[in-house]
Amino acid sequence: MNRDVEENARDLAAGVWRCSSCGRTTPYSEPGTWAATRVMGIIVAIACDECQTPEQHLEAEVRAATVDYSIDAAGLIHETPKGETA
Ligand SMILES: [Zn+2]
Repeated sequence: MNRDVEENARDLAAGVWRCSSCGRTTPYSEPGTWAATRVMGIIVAIACDECQTPEQHLEAEVRAATVDYSIDAAGLIHETPKGETA
């Protein structure tokens, strides 16, 4: 778990989301319908659209429609509702 968090943070700092299952990457600013599992707001696992469960896909579609992503200097993802300025 801790190793995954560190790896995710490094990938996010590099500007990409990496699927925790297959290793594919996508620009963090364009996650599309990729699903991210969060603990206390920190992404600990990412599933691409081919690896995610139906439940993850549903949540990802909701997020894609309602949330914008930004990233801070520590490499942590922040989510803001679409239409709001951070
Ligand atoms: Zn995958």
